[in-house]
Amino acid sequence: MQPITRSCGTEGLPADVRLQQRQRTLASALQDLPYLKVPVCYTVLFRTPDENIDVRFIQANHEQLQLDFSAQNADVDSVPDKPPYNVFANMATDTRITFSPTDPLTIEDSSVHVRRVKVSETEFQSVSHCLSKMAAVPGKLNIYIARLADGLLGQAIFKTTGTFTVCAVTYASVGSVKAPGAFGAFGLGRTLTHEVGHTFLLEHPFTGCGERTYPDVPATRFPNEKAQLNPATTDGIGAFGCNHYNDLRGINGAPKSCTGADTSGEFELFFQYMDYPSDANMFMFTRGQAESMYAFLSTVGRQLLSVETLTLTSPAQAAPLSLPPINPSPFPEQVAKGIDWAIFGPILFAVIVFISFGVGLRIQYKRNLAKKRVQDAS
Ligand SMILES: [Zn+2]
Repeated sequence: MQPITRSCGTEGLPADVRLQQRQRTLASALQDLPYLKVPVCYTVLFRTPDENIDVRFIQANHEQLQLDFSAQNADVDSVPDKPPYNVFANMATDTRITFSPTDPLTIEDSSVHVRRVKVSETEFQSVSHCLSKMAAVPGKLNIYIARLADGLLGQAIFKTTGTFTVCAVTYASVGSVKAPGAFGAFGLGRTLTHEVGHTFLLEHPFTGCGERTYPDVPATRFPNEKAQLNPATTDGIGAFGCNHYNDLRGINGAPKSCTGADTSGEFELFFQYMDYPSDANMFMFTRGQAESMYAFLSTVGRQLLSVETLTLTSPAQAAPLSLPPINPSPFPEQVAKGIDWAIFGPILFAVIVFISFGVGLRIQYKRNLAKKRVQDAS
């Protein structure tokens, strides 16, 4: 069943880690720094055929991840041009973080970039649960794809020590804007963008009023779960971005939750990747978020990951799709194509037994009838 709202299992940063992260600064302006390349390893934990997700969806999501981190995504210019949201125009920022493999992923399961592990678990509770089934690959950003429990779309762990970073996304969220996964509104691949943001120590914006998580991300009390760029219906707030969720809670009548003497009372920036709307309603990292991630990766992140420094002079281009086009609805088809003999087998057996029994009775009846006729005749 497709989710109605986003659910992320990543917790808030511990206070000491948050303080350390906020003290990390860049040596120069972000746009003057070299691009960083992060090696990625995908691990698919599957029990059923649909959980053993087609590598083309993984590739599509990988490309979406690259596009989103480079501000090259097709929907990057979606900021409404009407007040109040036009104040957020031109904030989308190239993070100068790229991901390997930049070449199209091989379709072979033996690829070092996509590991597949058959499991007996019907679902996974957490990233740690995923790690218990298959250890992470050192030096890499480990992305686990599995059926997550309790409606979780994804989860990441804030790691500042060790030899890898890790996050998990639920299998049906894997896809892209061009090739949506089975979760539809939550299948455009933005769950992975959100979770990878967490692995680079980005936080949700809804940490409360009074303190911004990032200089250019207004404070907010609650996740913007129902905010939409182009809502189908208006509710008196406006036809563009509407902070439905917070307003429905009765915080105030305007699309902002932090008002009063202790807050700025700004409108909320719900369409950045670390808030909670559906995939189509999130399309950018702000400069503050991009700088924070770069500061992590260029310092402590280098101790966890085999980060390469690139000499690119322009944003990394996502590898073009070189594999056969993805069927837009492969999941029902996969289910329909195969016969589940665990269910169908016993039914077929019962039918055969029933028919055999009926035929047997009929034969016996005819024999008895013939016998009686012979007896009557004699
Ligand atoms: Zn999250």
